[in-house]
Amino acid sequence: MEKKEFQAESKRLLDLMINSIYTHKEIFLREIISNASDAMDKLAYKALTDDKVGLDRSQLKITLTPDQIGRTLTISDNGIGMTHDELEQNLGTIARSGSLQFKQEMAKQEKAEGDATDIIGQFGVGFYSAFMVADHVTVTSRAYGSDEAWQWASDGADGYTLEPCQKDTVGTDIVLHIKANTDDDHYDEYLEQYRIAELVKKYSDYIHYPIVMLMHKS
Ligand code: ADP
Ligand code: MG
Repeated sequence: MEKKEFQAESKRLLDLMINSIYTHKEIFLREIISNASDAMDKLAYKALTDDKVGLDRSQLKITLTPDQIGRTLTISDNGIGMTHDELEQNLGTIARSGSLQFKQEMAKQEKAEGDATDIIGQFGVGFYSAFMVADHVTVTSRAYGSDEAWQWASDGADGYTLEPCQKDTVGTDIVLHIKANTDDDHYDEYLEQYRIAELVKKYSDYIHYPIVMLMHKS
């Protein structure tokens, strides 16, 4: 197993997410679903230019599986997936426009002594928003064209681990271990089917792939 530190910029953004007093934590689902949709777009695009992909577009879908006993919410897609190096680059560093722009806005607001957290909702803050509701996140992925799968895991602040794992199909499974309720914050709702369905309707209605909910089998 490889242990890695987050890049300094990532650490700062993660800190912000973990300690966020922001009330619209629910936008994490929009971010994760939009990444899943992007990954399927990428695979569909590849299929246009590469006969070998042999993609049946009607098979592309996003699956949401809440597990109230295990306190996890799993978001799966059968998009393009990530290699070992892509997991490291995409989830370990902030090179993305959305996050950079977001950080700049945060800095501006802090200088102006405004309520910095108000601006979270305006930006595509991305993957790290998962840490607003989860204290442990695993990303299991198999890239198109690869027969290896890798698991990225993190509790936030310190860093992340990467290890080889088993995954039979191309795509990505994101498992969010949902935080325990505190006096001020309630997280249980993110394990409830009706609430998840409500969030999908509210934020992800424009997604042009099916989004299905599965009952966890235990
Ligand atoms: P953005 O979507 O703005 O690029 P994110 O923080 O949301 O930033 O995601 C970072 C990157 O991680 C994405 O650009 C993508 O390369 C990768 N990624 C995230 N989720 C997935 C996924 N489900 N499948 C494939 N790649 C993903
Ligand atoms: Mg994104």
